[in-house]
Amino acid sequence: MESRNYDVVILGSGPAGLQAAIHAARRKVSVLVLGKKDQSSMYHHHIENYAFLFKTTGDEMLKVGMQQAESFGAEFMEEDILKITSNESSFEFVAESGSRIVARTFIIATGTNRKRLGVPGEKTLIGKGVSYCVDCDGNFYRGEDVAVIGGQSAAVDGALIMTGIAGQVHLVCDALLVPEPLARRLSESTVHVHQGVEVREIAGKDRVDGLVLSDGTELPVTGVFVELGAKGLLELAGSLGVQFDDEMKHVQTDKKQATNIPGIYAAGDICGPPWQLAKAVGEGCVAGIEAAAYAKRHHPIDT
Ligand SMILES: Cc1cc2nc3c(=O)[nH]c(=O)nc-3n(C[C@H](O)[C@H](O)[C@H](O)COP(=O)(O)OP(=O)(O)OC[C@H]3O[C@@H](n4cnc5c(N)ncnc54)[C@H](O)[C@@H]3O)c2cc1C
Repeated sequence: MESRNYDVVILGSGPAGLQAAIHAARRKVSVLVLGKKDQSSMYHHHIENYAFLFKTTGDEMLKVGMQQAESFGAEFMEEDILKITSNESSFEFVAESGSRIVARTFIIATGTNRKRLGVPGEKTLIGKGVSYCVDCDGNFYRGEDVAVIGGQSAAVDGALIMTGIAGQVHLVCDALLVPEPLARRLSESTVHVHQGVEVREIAGKDRVDGLVLSDGTELPVTGVFVELGAKGLLELAGSLGVQFDDEMKHVQTDKKQATNIPGIYAAGDICGPPWQLAKAVGEGCVAGIEAAAYAKRHHPIDT
């Protein structure tokens, strides 16, 4: 598949990503923003503590932010990224539809939240069969039967990865929310899909030994991967050598929002607390300016 080229790619269309897009696009470099606005942690919330706006809603702010970024030339693709690779002068991204994108530099603005299921057994069995990262822990389940929970890109991609490692792989979701090419890969795979059901309980005393679904089905699995939402930062950027804090939760950046890897910047919740819109926007502004300058210093990419 042919790739699309940009100077700056921004992963995340929350406040950090949108502010970065506005500042980068105004510097006359080509900008692509990836991510889904309804996946931003502010989407469903009322905001009362952001200066200049007395009371507003997250979805309204995101809508206006996208319009602003678009008016300066930023392009949008409402898709998650599943994979990033690098070579000496550029980064290549694979989106959930299979589209390929190449960029001179990129900004990580993917927010931070490993969503939990909130069912009995989950908390007590974390690290004892319950995991939140197929890419990190999948290899521990070689030949075993596992379940991946979720209907979005991280879960479907995770289940497909596990078919090359585990025994029987189950995918449990209330609905499948992925583009056609990924859905097709799933239907052509050996993954056993349980759609229209919820997880009621993760069973096991000292280790996971099963999964109970809302329709009464009991799956005899030893591994449960909770993959609700998009691929997280650890999976995406970890392989490129991006430096994290000691708990491996947040990206470390300098005052220019630059990571330890030239050409990779980060902004917003992914850089650590306080988890606030004002901080996300401030860091997005710096990251957008710096990434655009980096792209210009390293010759804008042919589009
Ligand atoms: C319940 C609640 C209430 C809140 N109330 C307030 C408040 O009143 N005031 C305040 O200041 N803050 C509040 N916050 C915090 C605020 O929402 C966050 O600080 C802010 O949204 C962080 O912005 P961000 O851009 O870093 O990440 P997010 O807004 O979370 O955006 C992340 C983006 O990354 C994208 N993404 C993720 N993974 C991928 C991938 N693999 N590929 C491509 N894109 C990806 C998502 O689709 C999304 O677009 C609240 C948060 C919550 C949860």
